[in-house]
Order: sequence, then structure tokens, then C-alpha cells
Amino acid sequence: MRAVVTGGAGFLGSHLCETLLRQGHTVVAVDNFCTGSPDNVAHLHDTGRFRLVQADVTEGLRIEGDVDLVLHFASPASPVDYLRMPIETLQVGSQGTTHALDLAHAKDARFVVASTSEVYGDPLVHPQPESYWGNVNPVGPRGVYDEAKRFGEALTLAYRQAYGVDTGIVRIFNTFGPRMRPNDGRAIPNFIRQALMGEPVTVAGHGLQTRSICYVDDLVAGILAMAASDHSGPINIGNPHEISMLDLAQWIVRLVGSDSPIVHIDRPVDDPTVRRPDTTIAQRELGWAPIVPIEDALHRTIAWFRGHDGEVPPLSPE
Ligand code: NAD
Ligand code: UDP
Repeated sequence: MRAVVTGGAGFLGSHLCETLLRQGHTVVAVDNFCTGSPDNVAHLHDTGRFRLVQADVTEGLRIEGDVDLVLHFASPASPVDYLRMPIETLQVGSQGTTHALDLAHAKDARFVVASTSEVYGDPLVHPQPESYWGNVNPVGPRGVYDEAKRFGEALTLAYRQAYGVDTGIVRIFNTFGPRMRPNDGRAIPNFIRQALMGEPVTVAGHGLQTRSICYVDDLVAGILAMAASDHSGPINIGNPHEISMLDLAQWIVRLVGSDSPIVHIDRPVDDPTVRRPDTTIAQRELGWAPIVPIEDALHRTIAWFRGHDGEVPPLSPE
């Protein structure tokens, strides 16, 4: 199979490329490096089946030759990143998704788009099933991301209905692991970096808001199960392991063996209070469920942040 991965030099994209190559496929990654880096995929060139194209998918997406699968993952994902690039975020969700869908249409390829739990906004239903329409503020600061993703979902379904493109939508919940940028602003890389440096660990508000955190290997398995199916989705992919940000910060400080104090900073505007996926459909339709224990996953991620030499250490802590 020949796959095109937009955002392939980012955190999730690089892991997707790596797994596809390990499975024997050929991969073209397309990335403009606005939040990703060629370093994330430098080790993949040795396979001889990997190509990295520097391009902005908002401007177009042309790939020569056959394509069997398009994984559309290009988009800033950290709140810090998308608040810094609000227009680019809306454009990659609209024009970028249009170009990725046009490619899948032209090549008769399966298409899977990375949507997000953010389509549920600050949810009034908990945990969140796919049938929940969400509680999003379109004119709040997070609207640029949430609405870009919601538009991307609607566009994806329209291409399926109007042109018969074999599309799938995954709603990804908070995922972590090696190759997150230590300064990308998301909670887990912030907490690990701060604990490793002995700096105060910044918990927003009282830290009682929750997220449900998934290790990247589990996430990749779920995405590739969706890619291998013909399901249209949307399907939630995430780990129902729900934890408050205060508990998470304290857990990470303990695992790092740090004496960093916890400090409280302002809560971002419209910060969701709770979030947990209902994964019934993923289990039933894709036979997928996360299997990596969160403590093992945190150990592995901390080890990578310590070394940061590109090598991902084995799953069980030594
Ligand atoms: P990331 O920032 O590490 O990766 C995004 C990649 O997309 C980067 O390499 C970036 O340079 C690239 N990109 C952005 N705009 C582009 C453009 N216009 N043209 C070409 N490349 C562009 O983020 P990530 O965590 O790997 O997220 C990947 C995808 O998964 C995103 O679409 C994100 O919305 C989605 N997602 C991620 C999570 C998560 O927890 N990591 C949760 C929900 C959804
Ligand atoms: N958060 C925090 N400290 C930080 C960064 C984030 O307490 O240094 C909080 C943030 O306010 C949110 C949660 O952690 O309540 C998850 O934030 P993240 O940016 O990781 O993901 P998202 O909000 O997109 O789920």
C-alpha cells in the first residue's frame, strides 16, 4: 500500500509513518513544519520507502503515482499553537482538508481525517458518545480549532455523499508520548519538562478539570484499524482513563522523582471541564481498545524526554 500522511513530521504523524513503514508500506509525508520537524522522521529515510515533502496543504496537495490511503493529520493541535496561528488553523481545516479530500477522490484512495474530542467543546454529556453534538463556543478563542475540525468533518461527509469517496472520521482524545515538543504547551509535555528541570509545575485553575489520556501506540493502532475498515465514523479513539490535571501533575512529579512545587496559573477561557470518550463503537466496529497502562506510558515518555535522542525506549521501565 502507498500512503500519504499530511502532518507526517508532527507528533502523531511521525508515529503513523513509522508504523506504516514497519508494516511494509510506502509512505509520503507532507508537512510545512509549522509545528513539526524533519527530525521526527529522519530515521525513516533508511527504509527506502519513505519520502518527506515540504509543502503547505492549504495551498494544494499534488502527489504523483498511485495512492491507496490518505491520512489527513496536518493541523496545529496544541492550544498554544492554534492560538498563535488562528487563521492558519482555520485554513488547514478548510482548504487543507479540501485538498486532501480531492487527492483521495482523484486516486480512489481511502481517506481518514484526524478530528478531535474538541468537537464536543465543554461537554454537557459525560462520557462523550459520538452521537453527542457538543457544546462549542464558535467565537471563543478555541473556536478557531474546534470549528475548523467541525467543518472538516462536515466536508468529509459531503465528499462521501457527493463523490462516493471512501472516507472515515476519527475523533482523537488527548494523546501523549515520545516526540511531543517539550515546549508545545500541552499539559503532559509541560509537566514533564517542568518536573525534569526542577521548575514549578503549572496547573491551570484548581486542576480539578479532567482529561482522558491515551498512549500514542494505542492511538496509532486505532487509527490504522479505522484506515483498514470502510467505516465512515465518526469514531472516538482515546483511552477512557480519566484524570484531573492536579492528580496528573502530582503523578508526573512523583514518577520523575522531582521536588518541583505545584503552582496554580489562570485557567484558559472556555477550557473544557471534563472529557472522556465513550469507546463502545471503536470496540464493536474496529475491535480496538487501548492496552498500554498509563503508568508504563508515562515512564516511557519521561525516559524519552530525559534522553531526547530520537530513540524511543522499551515499554516496561527498566
Ligand atoms: P503536531 O503539531 O505535532 O503535528 C501537526 C503536524 O501538522 C505538524 O508536523 C505541522 O507542521 C503540520 N502542519 C500543520 N499545518 C500544516 C499545513 N498547512 N501544511 C502542512 N503541514 C501542516 O500535532 P499532533 O498532536 O501530532 O496532531 C496531529 C493531528 O491530530 C492534528 O490534526 C490534531 O488536530 C489531531 N489531534 C491530535 C490530538 C493529540 O492529543 N495529539 C488530539 C486530537 C486531535
Ligand atoms: N493545563 C495545565 N497546565 C499546563 C498546560 C495545560 O493545567 O501547563 C491544563 C489545561 O488548562 C487543560 C488541560 O491541562 O485543562 C489539558 O490541556 P492541553 O493543552 O494538554 O489539552 P486540551 O486542553 O486541548 O485538552
